Amino acid sequence: MSSPTDGVSRAMPAAFFGHGNPMNALEVNRYTSAWEAFGRAVPRPRAILVISAHWYINATAVTAMPRPRTIHDFYGFPQELFAVEYPAPGMPELAEEIAEVVEPTWVGADVDSWGIDHGTWSVLVHAFPDASIPVVQLSINADKPLDYHLDLGARLAPLRERGVLVVASGNVVHNLRGMSWDLVDDGYDWARRFDEDAKERMLADPTAFAALDAHPDYRSAVPTPDHFIPALYLAGLAGAAGSDSTAVLVDGCAYGSLSMTAYALDLACPAVEADAAPARVPTQAPPDGSNI
Ligand code: ZN
Repeated sequence: MSSPTDGVSRAMPAAFFGHGNPMNALEVNRYTSAWEAFGRAVPRPRAILVISAHWYINATAVTAMPRPRTIHDFYGFPQELFAVEYPAPGMPELAEEIAEVVEPTWVGADVDSWGIDHGTWSVLVHAFPDASIPVVQLSINADKPLDYHLDLGARLAPLRERGVLVVASGNVVHNLRGMSWDLVDDGYDWARRFDEDAKERMLADPTAFAALDAHPDYRSAVPTPDHFIPALYLAGLAGAAGSDSTAVLVDGCAYGSLSMTAYALDLACPAVEADAAPARVPTQAPPDGSNI
């Protein structure tokens, strides 16, 4: 394991995770195995900056409290999921650093409203289970167009040189009304089509990722933009890196209308053996209106 201060300076990898059902926090499946492998493969970061679909508000803000609380922002799940805690420390000084690197884009500091939501902890409990690395969240400003998020993602690039692991968490395809319990580990044709085209864009032409809003399947795949937008942050970082070093960590669809595809930038991804962990997805079907 190397620290960001030793040897030749090297940009910290970055990633986008399709988080899906919050029950993934407690399950072991093909996706969670990939998240775990990612955590093992990255150099230990100074801090983790997460852009989660579940902090979707009318402002651009970063969490700046020393002890962010674990937020259980969903309904109707088993008690054991509400019992999950992710007690990572915050890093108030990183909030200031972020505000500086993204200038002139304005970012406020949140000292008491948010914390660590399930878009963040359902992945981090697998990737960094000991919760010892400071975690800061960046909100998604719901008032801004897609290009704003792509641009803000690119502005975060200098943080990668300062030991910060930027992680985005959402789902490229996320249509809760269209979910089917009969398609536990599969996607509708339109979901798979959109996910494949998004993949091609992410790997080959990330600066054009926002133009996916003109895709014929966009309205079905992205009925609301909250889970799609986090992918724009990784696309922005990939564009800023100017290299074709984005790779698919794991891919697939769940419940017909969710894509679980995850990407990593500048990381030699450890292969997740396809038959080592079966594509078992949560046994608990998410209830309606559960805010996943
Ligand atoms: Zn979600």
